[in-house]
Amino acid sequence: MPSFKVPQQFAWTVLQSGQTPLQPDGTARNEVEHRCSAVLVWPAGQVPQADNTLLIDPCFTENGYAQALATLDGLGATPDDIGMMFVTHLHPDHMLRFPAHVGAPRFRPFRPVARPQVFTAIHSVAVPGHHPSQEALYFQDEAGRQVWVTGDAVLGRAWLEAWAYFWPNGYAPLQIVETWRSVAQVLSHADVIVPGHDDPLPVTAELLQHLLETFPQAEFASRCPDVPRRLQARLEQLGG
Ligand SMILES: [Zn+2]
Repeated sequence: MPSFKVPQQFAWTVLQSGQTPLQPDGTARNEVEHRCSAVLVWPAGQVPQADNTLLIDPCFTENGYAQALATLDGLGATPDDIGMMFVTHLHPDHMLRFPAHVGAPRFRPFRPVARPQVFTAIHSVAVPGHHPSQEALYFQDEAGRQVWVTGDAVLGRAWLEAWAYFWPNGYAPLQIVETWRSVAQVLSHADVIVPGHDDPLPVTAELLQHLLETFPQAEFASRCPDVPRRLQARLEQLGG
């Protein structure tokens, strides 16, 4: 029987804008604070409150927390209206942390295998490489776009465009290849990426064209011919 159900859509906002002083070329902009993107998601058309909100990467600096409070205030909400949390990967700049002067929040952990009904249309995907158990969450937003909150599977626009990975991790070749495969997985589906340390990034034909042209320069590119194939397929879908 055909289904006429409209897929569940979500409202979302960046509570803490992700950024990092680290540049893909190995330099650092020391005036920039290192902090992750923290994203709040709740069902479209509902008021965000403790039984319908999910916070992805709840790791706040002082400045980031002030930004989060202001954004929540604009929604008519407070941190008490955040119910669940999800951590994309087990690095300390993404795991639960609130400024010292703030009382410890009591978020419930979001487990994709046993998610509450309100979040049945929020999905998780393994995107290993940066971290072996790295996961991304994706959902459809009110504009019908597929939004992928990737943590550090995508660090930011500059890193993505340079086919760069976070060098101090000391990756083995397999982890670098996994990183490119995860990037390809995200780019195959996402309309918008929320990277681990940058502003939301729309996936456009221009971006895919650039990534296809530059991929041969990526480390170990010859070991993963599936990556440019996937990018090409998405580019064709987008009419590029
Ligand atoms: Zn990070």
